[in-house]
Amino acid sequence: MDLLKQKIQSEGKVLSNQVLKVDSFLNHQIDPVLMVEIGKEFARRFQSERITKVLTIESSGIAPGLMAALELQVPVVFARKRKSLTLVNDLLTATVHSFTKNETNEISVSSKFIASDDRVLVIDDFLANGQAALGLAEIVNQAGAEVAGFGIVIEKSFQEGGQSLREKGYKVESLARISSLENGEVAFLEELEV
Ligand code: 5GP
Repeated sequence: MDLLKQKIQSEGKVLSNQVLKVDSFLNHQIDPVLMVEIGKEFARRFQSERITKVLTIESSGIAPGLMAALELQVPVVFARKRKSLTLVNDLLTATVHSFTKNETNEISVSSKFIASDDRVLVIDDFLANGQAALGLAEIVNQAGAEVAGFGIVIEKSFQEGGQSLREKGYKVESLARISSLENGEVAFLEELEV
């Protein structure tokens, strides 16, 4: 997605060979015009998948997840990273190790919001080692529902998450795929736009 790649090139900050900071449009301040386009692009790529629900994780997945859900005309649910006082009964949970924070969280979703006949599109901001994505898939599986695919805003293809999800047979659509962050520069994986 060219608009997203341009935004990454002009505003992204390479913090290390592993980590990209995009807090001016995705992780802190949010660019609503870009988010609308991201939602449209996810909807286009998953339009034939009969999606009934979008599942994402707080907090940075919510903006792209909401826009995708709006375009697909389905509800969006976000997994919580911390225990909520009001979210206590009938929880679906998974353990996720955070790549950027180097801490392990139990993520949870109320079982009320995912049904066994749901076809779920999992959305997240970044895909690195795939821990967050796999945790969300585990929650969908616990509900007896089906993962229809993963929609990722920025995939770092030099980390293992994308490959391991695709090897498991999942459809993974990433709007920007980064092949390297070496020498302080963002390099994109060359691919044909479809
Ligand atoms: P994974 O679970 O795939 O290892 O990492 C994905 C999660 O870690 C995402 O939800 C995202 O919040 C965070 N993350 C991973 N890599 C980066 C990165 O380079 N930059 C930012 N801002 N977040 C990242």
